[in-house]
Amino acid sequence: MRALFVSLIAVFIFSVVSAAQTAGERAPIPRLDHFNIDQVDRALDPCADFFQYTCSKWIKANPIPADLAGQTAFGKLAIWNIAAVRDTLQEAATAKDRSPIQQMVGDYYAACTDEATINMLGIKPLQPALDRIAKLKDKSQLPELIAYLHQLVRPGDLVFTDNEYDGILFGLYQQPDFDDASITVAAFDQAGMGMPGRDFYLKNDDKSKEIRDKYVKHIAKLLQLSGESARQSSMDAQSVLALESALARSAMDIIARRDPKNQNNKMSFQQLQALAPSFDFERYLKAMQAPSSSRYLVLAPDFFRGVDQLIASEPVGHWKAYLRWQTLHFMAPFLSQPFVDETYDFFGRTLAGAQEIPPRWRRCSFSADADLGGAVGQAYVAKYFPEERKERVLQMVHAIEAALNRDIDNAAWMSDASKKAAHGKLAAQIDKIGYPDRWRDYSSLEIKRDDLVGNISRASRFETIRRFSKIGKPTDRQAWVMTPPTVNAYEDSSTNTINFPAGILQPPFFDASAPDAVNYGAIGAVIGHETIHGFDDQGRKFDAQGNLRDWWTPEDAANYEQRDKCIQDEYTQDIPEAGVRQNGALSAGEDTADNGGIHIALSALENTLTSNGKTLDSPARDGFTELQTFFLAYSEVWCSTLRPEAARTAVLTQGHSLDRYRVNNVLGNMPEFDHAFGCHAGQPMVHATQCRVW
Ligand SMILES: [Zn+2]
Repeated sequence: MRALFVSLIAVFIFSVVSAAQTAGERAPIPRLDHFNIDQVDRALDPCADFFQYTCSKWIKANPIPADLAGQTAFGKLAIWNIAAVRDTLQEAATAKDRSPIQQMVGDYYAACTDEATINMLGIKPLQPALDRIAKLKDKSQLPELIAYLHQLVRPGDLVFTDNEYDGILFGLYQQPDFDDASITVAAFDQAGMGMPGRDFYLKNDDKSKEIRDKYVKHIAKLLQLSGESARQSSMDAQSVLALESALARSAMDIIARRDPKNQNNKMSFQQLQALAPSFDFERYLKAMQAPSSSRYLVLAPDFFRGVDQLIASEPVGHWKAYLRWQTLHFMAPFLSQPFVDETYDFFGRTLAGAQEIPPRWRRCSFSADADLGGAVGQAYVAKYFPEERKERVLQMVHAIEAALNRDIDNAAWMSDASKKAAHGKLAAQIDKIGYPDRWRDYSSLEIKRDDLVGNISRASRFETIRRFSKIGKPTDRQAWVMTPPTVNAYEDSSTNTINFPAGILQPPFFDASAPDAVNYGAIGAVIGHETIHGFDDQGRKFDAQGNLRDWWTPEDAANYEQRDKCIQDEYTQDIPEAGVRQNGALSAGEDTADNGGIHIALSALENTLTSNGKTLDSPARDGFTELQTFFLAYSEVWCSTLRPEAARTAVLTQGHSLDRYRVNNVLGNMPEFDHAFGCHAGQPMVHATQCRVW
């Protein structure tokens, strides 16, 4: 139910790759980028290709390093943030007289960076889990075994569930009830496909087949590294692909998953059990120590019917191969170098096009943030997020919300009844800035200085218990699902919140020393984007309380759909740099948020300028007007280059348009842009039909 600002692939890239320099453990924090007017190539025509006009110099100055799948303004800030996190972790690892939090994060980091010990141990830390899988005698034992593995590997990130939950076979997590969002319930979701989307298993074009061939080889190599013979591992890899392909055929596709109605399948325990009689859910829940729930959300019922068939049809040996592979897949990044290399070869090189593995300090800093984000984030916030910044950002959020209220009032296609409901929803929205009000208590979690795999598993179990503790309770609207150093933001329709981690409230997004036109063009458009998500084709289906409830008159809904279709058609386009075609039905929500978000950010800027006795056409700096500066700042934060492999994966697996289109398609829909740069009909930056929802 979440819609976010940056793509899955961007996060994937950050977590597996590194900066240009062959940085040692003590490499300095890189320089932070700021809005730079000299980046504009004035020799180019802004009305021909605004992305080139604002980004071509940046792209030349920022070649993709060998260990990156792309270079982006987001990515550079993420690297700055993670280097800042590293400094606090290193300090915590070596300091005398440490606080309990420093002891925990410091020992985690020390264990993770102790490459010599990790390499000496090889597969040993994972051997008990592999032995347990090898002892599977009968498929009736699957519930306990899967529950054990679900507590061993890191729980999936709940922000990134577009295709599936990132877990073994299926996922169990907590989610607000669709019909009564004030209560959090247990949700069962599809999972267990190692590649990042069901199309990777089902499409038959040459590129898809080539990737599948490499995937099977990767599975075989990892199994072989774990101790299987060459012959056995190659047979097992074929069984794994067959099993995961069957899961993909039963899985709900990514477009259907975008409609919350398709996921709202509430079931009693008996109904859940009836979906998959071969799998004893009672024993699974008991082994997971999951609280009992009066009802279960089954997000993809057909998937569980498919799992049932697979349990019946696949021999126990195939199940052992699948579970062994999946366990290795999730744990390989924490094992010795051959496991790390092999995993990187498929997920970093084949799927994202990157060439080199990032330095260990970066991988360990990301890992510490993933496992102990609440603890790691405290030091980051204390050092890099002054309290007054929270206030200033909040002022911008309020100005942008006021702009959306005006936009709703001006929407000639909406009736008064729908407008009233829309205003009510916006008024009930909670705006969260920077970091949580209450920090998570990690005191029951044991972290050891010499046990990386144990630390990962204990942190995973801790997180699983933490999530389960929410089931059956009132929904906590103050909870966060992103850590403070994250360069991202999200809207959650079920809690009716927008959330901006401290990590994105840094230059070039928010810059305390920059003029309003720059901040509204950069972070303002981000804030606008998240605000509009509550009113995009998904968000509009939720009401002020976060319930899935239709508050639109039929006529207004039809008007909305018509406007939405304009956006969908516009973004259904060939993406030459990725070698694939974008599906506008997949990206509609993000594209609507981009298009509407910049409108309300601009409207808020105009109001701010008016109160200072200026207009959008007032001269700003360097020969540009305020309005021009706003568009330049907007475009500059989207400057990027992606390798074709990463671009292809991004277009196929998640809803965000590539950055070039987040600039050119959006601005091509805006008469305000035409006015700013004197563009006229017939030029590429002026669309013949200028789509507009918000
Ligand atoms: Zn978004």
